Amino acid sequence: MKGTMVDREQLEDVRLAVYTGFARTGRAPGPPELAARTGLAVDRVRQALRHLHESRDLVLDTGDGDRVVMAHPFSAVPLGFSVMGERTLWWGGCAWDSFAIPHLLRDEPAVLVATGCPACDTPHAWRVGWDAPPPGDQVAHFLVPVHHIWDDVVHACANQRLFCSVACVEVWLERTRQARGYVMDLATLWRLARGWYAGRLDRGYTRRDPSSAAAYFAQVGLHGPFWGLPAD
Ligand SMILES: [Zn+2]
Ligand SMILES: [Zn+2]
Repeated sequence: MKGTMVDREQLEDVRLAVYTGFARTGRAPGPPELAARTGLAVDRVRQALRHLHESRDLVLDTGDGDRVVMAHPFSAVPLGFSVMGERTLWWGGCAWDSFAIPHLLRDEPAVLVATGCPACDTPHAWRVGWDAPPPGDQVAHFLVPVHHIWDDVVHACANQRLFCSVACVEVWLERTRQARGYVMDLATLWRLARGWYAGRLDRGYTRRDPSSAAAYFAQVGLHGPFWGLPAD
């Protein structure tokens, strides 16, 4: 293999190896494992990881470029959620990502999502599956508006959490001195998560452009400038 650039096909091989590795094992494969799975040299894999980080197809650790921190909806770091399947345990990323994981896995019709309320530490768990939103009157609060998520994606995900109630959201905002972001019920969160990452485990996936993202947000029942939609 001559040349200094990774080609599209190699990028897609590495992207898929990261995603399928995460899906299968719950953890991020490192460059040697990715090299073994794709048949590429380790240096080529590292180059591909940097490209995929720049295109926001995954997130590398700021200090260690060999370490994949997130490949949405999968996370290699704890952000307040665990997601338990039949045979695999994942860090769930944020509320959105945790609810999205079962929709990407063809052999896991439902997973157990667990977290604690950031305001009062009450434990919460839901069985999240393909067919319908889980019952519950808890609410999700997202702190960072969608246009700013990629300013610091780990911070944004770390602040997409599930609370007992709107009252707990308010206690937490007051305690952490932050302005209210967006609150939604479990059914809206489930609809948001259901199709958002569709195709990510398939070859040839492309990320949504801003206008198709906005259309998706409107269709699942989200409103207003927080989601890049017109004010009501
Ligand atoms: Zn609470
Ligand atoms: Zn997230």
